[in-house]
Formats: sequence, C-alpha cells, structure tokens
Amino acid sequence: MNESIAQKLTSLKNALPPEVTLVAVSKTKPIADIMEAYEAGHRHFGENKVQEMQEKYEQLPKDICWHMIGHVQGNKIKYMAPFVHMVHGIDKQKRLKELNKEAKKNNRVIDCLLQVHIAQEDTKFGFDALEIQDLLQSDFQTKYPNVRVRGLMGMATFTDDESQVSREFKGLRSLFMDSKELLQLEHFDTLSMGMSGDYKLAIAQGSTLVRVGSAIFGSR
Ligand SMILES: *Cc1c(COP(=O)(O)O)cnc(C)c1O
Repeated sequence: MNESIAQKLTSLKNALPPEVTLVAVSKTKPIADIMEAYEAGHRHFGENKVQEMQEKYEQLPKDICWHMIGHVQGNKIKYMAPFVHMVHGIDKQKRLKELNKEAKKNNRVIDCLLQVHIAQEDTKFGFDALEIQDLLQSDFQTKYPNVRVRGLMGMATFTDDESQVSREFKGLRSLFMDSKELLQLEHFDTLSMGMSGDYKLAIAQGSTLVRVGSAIFGSR
C-alpha cells in the first residue's frame, strides 16, 4: 500500500519527540507535493538551491518557513535574504559577513547555523571544532548584528556503520553543548542533525532539528 505524503508526514511527526523540529526537505519536488504537506499543517520546508527555493517561495503561501540547507554561495545570498527563515550551511566567516550585509539591506536579522564538518568524507563543507571555538570566542555578535547564530548543523558520513554515524553525531552534540556553555545565549538552541537514513540515531544523540526528505516525499 502506498502511503500519501500527508500520511508519511503524520506518522513521522508522531514518532519524533515533541521538542524536535521537523524540516521537510522538498528539494526537486513539485509545488503540489509541498501543498499536500502544507495542507496537512506542515510549515517548515528545506531546499538546497537558492533559485529553486525562491521560485517555490513565490508560488506558495507566505507563512511557510524556508530553510536553506544546502551549500551557500556568497553571490546567491541576496536572493534569499528577503524571506529565508534559517540558513543552515554557513561554513566560513566570509559567509556570515555576506549574510549580515544582505540581512541589513532587508532590515532583517536572519537566523543561521554554523555547519561543522563531522563526516569522514572530505567532500562535505564546514568548520572544524577549533574554528568553531575561535569564531564563537570572537566578537562576532557585534561584527554581524544582523545575523543570529542559532546553533550548529552537521552531516554524518554516508555509511551503513551506525556506530560511526552515532559517534559523529555525539561529537557534534558535545561541541554544541560546549558552545552553548561558552556563549550563554538563550537563542543558541538549535542542533540540526539527522536525515531520512539517520534521524533516529541523531535524535538519540540529542538533535533538536531533523531534515527529512525522501522518507516524506519519496526518493528523488
Ligand atoms: C537532501 C538533504 C537532506 C534530506 O535528505 P533525505 O535523505 O532525503 O532525507 C538533508 N540535509 C541536507 C543538507 C540535504 O541536502
């Protein structure tokens, strides 16, 4: 039996702890699929390409919270700055600076996450733990007043080895807790880790936000 998008979304939501945010990753999926999830009451959607997200933003209800989960290119920030809800993939200081500039032009303070490189593969972007600590100990808040760093994001190695994935998530959780303690900021509250294949492991390690695509919308 084929479950509908709404059914998959509902059973997934029921299985998540109530404090965990679900971002439904709708990249490559049509407007009709997103509307089905929207009509089932869902509001948080994730995309990995700025242009695609912008096109969908224009066609869809304006109370959707759009998450940019992909790798961010500096020259694309201006297109999402007017509406994006959270930018997950900030992987260098330069991006923070660019995001700050575009947020300011739009009179906004934009929420973002710092992407941490936790996987074994060297193809994945992100800061390492030392760079995170350096950045968080700097005066980034005064330098970039139009961005609000809400937490960390990471992607585990693409492997069947669950113990490795869990270890990577655990490491990110511990960096997140250390950062939280260092910063003492109420709004530093988001740890984005876990996708269709590994969200259960991520939640077991203390994720507060999962980014799930194919388990809701089907394979791409
Ligand atoms: C595509 C993507 C996801 C969702 O992947 P699924 O395996 O379909 O759940 C999550 N996070 C990022 C960064 C992605 O690019």
